[in-house]
Amino acid sequence: MTCRADSKSLINRAVLVLNQTYEPIHICDVRRAIVLLIEDKASMVKTVNHQALHSVSQAFPVPTIIRINKYVRLRNWYAVLNKANIFRRDNYTCQYCGAQDVPLTVDHIIPKVLGGSETWENLVTACIYCNNKKGDRALAETGMILRKRPIRPHKVHTLQQFAGAPLAEWRPYLFLD
Ligand SMILES: [Zn+2]
Repeated sequence: MTCRADSKSLINRAVLVLNQTYEPIHICDVRRAIVLLIEDKASMVKTVNHQALHSVSQAFPVPTIIRINKYVRLRNWYAVLNKANIFRRDNYTCQYCGAQDVPLTVDHIIPKVLGGSETWENLVTACIYCNNKKGDRALAETGMILRKRPIRPHKVHTLQQFAGAPLAEWRPYLFLD
């Protein structure tokens, strides 16, 4: 599709992609979403109000949410385990004392020397102070308490990171309302 200059930013706008079952599964740009709609692989769920993309002969409403017509079976439907995603899951908050805006690190709840593993369930965000205080002791020995049980996050949590104020229309589909 050829677009007028004023359409350039619209074409790159983020679009939430829902599975056939209305679960959020992906984020793509408007260009990709329109291809899926034209090829009849997806249906429009919600458009951006009063906005249209113009080709030579047609005007297209701008999608903000689309739904895949055929159910997509998902594998590896979990966020990747890494430091950044652990911080994100824990909302950049020390899971022992609740401190924010301090240097953060990743703590092994069961320390490595005691056989603790590198898993979502054994890794939490901790401030340097709590991390040092805990040291290589088992949690029960320290008297420290976790603020919440760490879980393996569904990828929807990653998608939620994108759901800021400008994309308020996505909120019901990301289970934020
Ligand atoms: Zn702390």
